[in-house]
Amino acid sequence: MNDELHFETLAIRSGHERTNEQEHSEAIFPTSSFVFNSAAEAAAKFAGDQPGNIYARMTNPTVAYFQERLATLEGGEACVATSSGMSAILAVVLALLKTGDHIVCSRSVFGTTTVLFNNYIEKFGIDVSFVDLTDLDQWRAAVGSNTRLLFAETPSNPLTEIVDIKELADIAHNNDALLAIDNCFCTPALQRPLSLGADLVIHSATKYLDGQGRCLGGAVVGGEELVAKEVAGVLRSGGMVMSPFNAWVFHKGLETLGLRMRAHCENASKLAQWLSAHPKVSKVYYPGLENHPQHDLAKRQQSGFGGIVSFEVIGGREACWHVVDSTKMISITANLGDAKSTITHPASTTHGRLSDEQRAESGISDNLLRVSVGLETFEDIRDDLARGLA
Ligand SMILES: *Cc1c(COP(=O)(O)O)cnc(C)c1O
Repeated sequence: MNDELHFETLAIRSGHERTNEQEHSEAIFPTSSFVFNSAAEAAAKFAGDQPGNIYARMTNPTVAYFQERLATLEGGEACVATSSGMSAILAVVLALLKTGDHIVCSRSVFGTTTVLFNNYIEKFGIDVSFVDLTDLDQWRAAVGSNTRLLFAETPSNPLTEIVDIKELADIAHNNDALLAIDNCFCTPALQRPLSLGADLVIHSATKYLDGQGRCLGGAVVGGEELVAKEVAGVLRSGGMVMSPFNAWVFHKGLETLGLRMRAHCENASKLAQWLSAHPKVSKVYYPGLENHPQHDLAKRQQSGFGGIVSFEVIGGREACWHVVDSTKMISITANLGDAKSTITHPASTTHGRLSDEQRAESGISDNLLRVSVGLETFEDIRDDLARGLA
């Protein structure tokens, strides 16, 4: 599509080829296989001499629409869609690493990513070192001659810490390693890691790309060679592909991504300010607040501060649970990136499996709550939290 078109336009207009039916909204192709006009055509397609669909584990038009649109929005050459965010991460590791290689990973990544690396990837003789997200010296010190991949999420969950993607890309490239950024919290509407030097962007499409909590999915975006060849190759054989129906939901979700992210940011910003002034709240974590340690970096690196707000309540776990249990509207669930606001107590849920020591190291205290601020009217979100804080 025309390079001069802007983000919102590309989110709505890219990644679609109208069929002969002249449909206005993109069609879903719920088909596992595709037919050939002749034995010769089948042979040519199997041999790769002629482009075209063969079997949905390799390509499907609906999935291809979504991939093209997300690649366009992230500014990447290629995108492959996966069955979930976790299978996107697994596919990257299987595609790009081998026994003896080394990963340096931020300590503040999605809990299951840590489990995947520690319990499964390490079994194959791939070492993983964990470092503090914002301490670049720790990243530099952890990188060795066999380091192949640096992996980070920014902003982090739940404390919204931010790392300088450009700096991290330099550390990776000076060591012939690749940088992968999990861009789940910002989405391309607020942050484009490839333009800052990252080699790969990973998504859990389950969150903001869907935006309404309906489907599980993921994606990897990056250069043609790495993504369309290496990562896609793992999916063809490994089979953790996205279903056409889910691809259609995400594809349509992208059409409103910019609009939704701006509204998430606006509600989150108001909530962060209101919480900051609340006498029962001792600390608020939100990159848009001037006292956030990486506020200036967030302003440079992101075009908005995101929809996740975490805060500490005076009175510890009991007070936190009281806030959670006093809500009437906000959903008590660990999911995020939904039009519906959600609330969770990380220390007893998402981070419950960590030891007390690991939790302290990660800064997840017993008095911390995380809200994924939804798109309801701000005053209703505020009032629902005010009840338990009163
Ligand atoms: C949810 C999440 C994942 C995992 O995605 P799934 O779609 O649940 O597999 C990965 N990274 C981040 C930051 C997430 O929030």
